[in-house]
Amino acid sequence: MTERYELQCRECRTSVGNRPSSVCEECFSPLEVTYDYDDIRTCLTREAIAQRAPGIWRYRELLPVADEYEATLPIGFTPLVPAPQLARHFRSRRLFLKNDCFCFPTLSFKDRVVAMAMAQARRFGFEVVGCASTGNLANAVAAQAARAGLRACVLIPADLESAKVINTQVYGARLVRVAGNYDQVNRLCSQIADAYHWGFVNVNLRAYYAEGSKTVGYEIAEQLGWRLPDNVVVPMAGGSLITKIKKAFDELVKLGLVEPKPVKIFGAQATGCSPISTAVKGGQTDIAPQKPSTVARSLAIGNPADGHYAIKAITGSGGWAEDVSDKEVVDAMQLLAATEGVFAETAGGVTVGVARKLFAQGRISPEETTVLCITGNGLKTVEALQGRLELPEPIPAKLAAFQEHIADEAEAVAV
Ligand SMILES: *Cc1c(COP(=O)(O)O)cnc(C)c1O
Ligand SMILES: [Zn+2]
Repeated sequence: MTERYELQCRECRTSVGNRPSSVCEECFSPLEVTYDYDDIRTCLTREAIAQRAPGIWRYRELLPVADEYEATLPIGFTPLVPAPQLARHFRSRRLFLKNDCFCFPTLSFKDRVVAMAMAQARRFGFEVVGCASTGNLANAVAAQAARAGLRACVLIPADLESAKVINTQVYGARLVRVAGNYDQVNRLCSQIADAYHWGFVNVNLRAYYAEGSKTVGYEIAEQLGWRLPDNVVVPMAGGSLITKIKKAFDELVKLGLVEPKPVKIFGAQATGCSPISTAVKGGQTDIAPQKPSTVARSLAIGNPADGHYAIKAITGSGGWAEDVSDKEVVDAMQLLAATEGVFAETAGGVTVGVARKLFAQGRISPEETTVLCITGNGLKTVEALQGRLELPEPIPAKLAAFQEHIADEAEAVAV
């Protein structure tokens, strides 16, 4: 390896150097970034990391960027917070939220992955970056392309949440609304990537982009005091994040940065788009594609590119996958907000709803340390709550009217 990292086939292990490509030409399996771990072991210590600014770049030796790459945005290092009230609901003793509702700059974990794609766009000399997106990726690509002075072209299913559409257009990105679902948008993007010399974040740059998700895993371990949790619950769309969290934990063990320890990996989906959880529950190792229909739009990928590897990560760890109905998703969004003061988007409702189920099924032990990955902000998907929260009638600006209005409450807490 002439550089610290390069692409390697996940199946036949052929190394191909660094280039904008995500498929092995020998066997057509996906490519993945691999690193010179012996080299990294000599320089990357807990102390070295602790001295660096909080953010994904503190793990830069484990990310596909050149040493001289100058990162300018403080992405990631989001809070890992105890969730004692939610824990009481689940009868858990040690429950944490990894809260990417506050990821900089666009309020979802996709900022992490896009940072990797931007570095590659620079490296390979692309002037236009594109993506197929269920929403959050579109936001992150549009914002970071603006910041990097690159043009962005974002393709989305036509019926996405309005906040995610506005959060893309405001940065000046070209928005292409496609009459179809994500899987159709994605297929179109593969054709465009062949025809134009563009950097497609989740097509020809996919292998690099996906590495950004590892930072969620590094941060969880560091924020637990350089310890691995017993369980993580991760929402799944294409299935990349969950496999990369596992890769991150494995790398930390390999580098001696944490003690080896089994971590059970749990995957969460919405029942209306549950190709991965359905396969896990049915004991299959491959995906049967589905036609998505769920309020959790950010997870609505019916034919997940990393589905097979997500299944492997889950079952290989002794974990499990579950899915929840749209009603359970919205209930869980409200539960998370009312117990912990965290307003997550629908994907967060999926994670919390599935976690509730896993505790109820006894698949997660209450005594163990469990981390729920909350991956995006609730302000992006307010539609999900419309009709759920009753809007009270306005009252006259009179004390008597107020007293009458809150009569039930006042009885309970009279002062
Ligand atoms: C994209 C996304 C996911 C899942 O990502 P994959 O890596 O495709 O499985 C989870 N949560 C949110 C909010 C997302 O936008
Ligand atoms: Zn191969």
